[in-house]
Amino acid sequence: MKKKYIISLLPGDGIGQEISKEALKIINWLSKNTDLKFEINEELVGGSSIDQFGSPLTDKTIQKIKRSDAIILGAVGGPKWEKLSFENRPERGLLKIRKELDLYANFRPALVFDSLINSSSLKPEIIQDLDILIIRELTGGIYFGEPRGVENIDKKNQRGFNTLVYTTQEIERIAKVAFETAMTRSKKLCSVDKANVLESTELWRKVVIETAKKYPDVELSHMYVDNASMQLVRNPKQFDVIVTTNMFGDILSDCASMLTGSLGMLPSASIGISDKGNKKAMYEPVHGSAPDIAGKGIANPLAMILSVSMMLKYSFNNNKLSHLINKAVNSVLEKGFRTNDIFSDGKKRISTSEMGDRVLEELG
Ligand code: NAD
Repeated sequence: MKKKYIISLLPGDGIGQEISKEALKIINWLSKNTDLKFEINEELVGGSSIDQFGSPLTDKTIQKIKRSDAIILGAVGGPKWEKLSFENRPERGLLKIRKELDLYANFRPALVFDSLINSSSLKPEIIQDLDILIIRELTGGIYFGEPRGVENIDKKNQRGFNTLVYTTQEIERIAKVAFETAMTRSKKLCSVDKANVLESTELWRKVVIETAKKYPDVELSHMYVDNASMQLVRNPKQFDVIVTTNMFGDILSDCASMLTGSLGMLPSASIGISDKGNKKAMYEPVHGSAPDIAGKGIANPLAMILSVSMMLKYSFNNNKLSHLINKAVNSVLEKGFRTNDIFSDGKKRISTSEMGDRVLEELG
């Protein structure tokens, strides 16, 4: 008897549309060839939802996705909607999903595939066998803090302001996720903050130290964010799990993506666990809608496909199938197939949809 799950697929804008088609191929393959069956509900988010409904995320869509077992999102945004007011931009749709579903823990693994070592701008010995996990707090901090805005000081001057705010409870729950994740890996956790100048992250450090008492087996270290960004490039293998705030995690994980060769290789999972233990999760590549290459059929769909792999692991506790997808991606890369962003001399350049087909072929 097949286990049936409902997935909300939100392709979004730009290359989000193209890479979602490749994710769908993999999901359909899983439905056909494993004991899982996925029903796909495709919904609009971001610019495509603005064009259709005048809003980046309608209430009807949010209600529907709340009822699904997992969400897969492509990317949102693009120049067409950049002149809209901040509240009506495509990115607000994405932030609304994260906030409404309380997806407070964002997992961003940076894993280097052996065959892509030469695609990174770093020396092979620095990144070989790299496997680190950045856990970013996703629903608090400066991206959500109030007050925020731009106000007039006088006729010539304006003042733009945002608020970096964290509560004990917000820090405690992300710290708990980070310690528990570290326990399943090498039991090493580095908390990144700016406690020397920002009071809100001074509290962050204090709460992380307090939470650590419940996890005596985990070796905890602390690092200021400026040093962490430097260490990520100098010697990334000193890290295993990193936990940090919303904005620092946003920046550090883009930096980590370049260790892996391309932004197009980095998947992510955003997870929220309620007090009752219910889990909600959204899976998406770390990158944006890449307007510069949208519609050309050259985007790398692997971050999206690896996001499906993360879904199998975190939402459906199926490490075996998750591993199978990672293995298929690895085989395709080992055979020398590359999209434009990871192409190097001597390799075979292929399109977005060919890359999806190659992964399917390996799965088959
Ligand atoms: P981006 O991530 O879209 O692109 C940065 C660079 O990486 C571009 O040169 C792009 O071509 C390349 N790139 C990204 N993904 C790729 C892939 N899969 N394959 C090959 N190359 C890839 O960032 P940006 O240009 O700063 O932002 C573009 C739009 O995306 C903006 O509207 C921004 O707000 C939005 N955005 C959305 C998300 C999201 O939906 N999660 C995240 C970041 C940015």
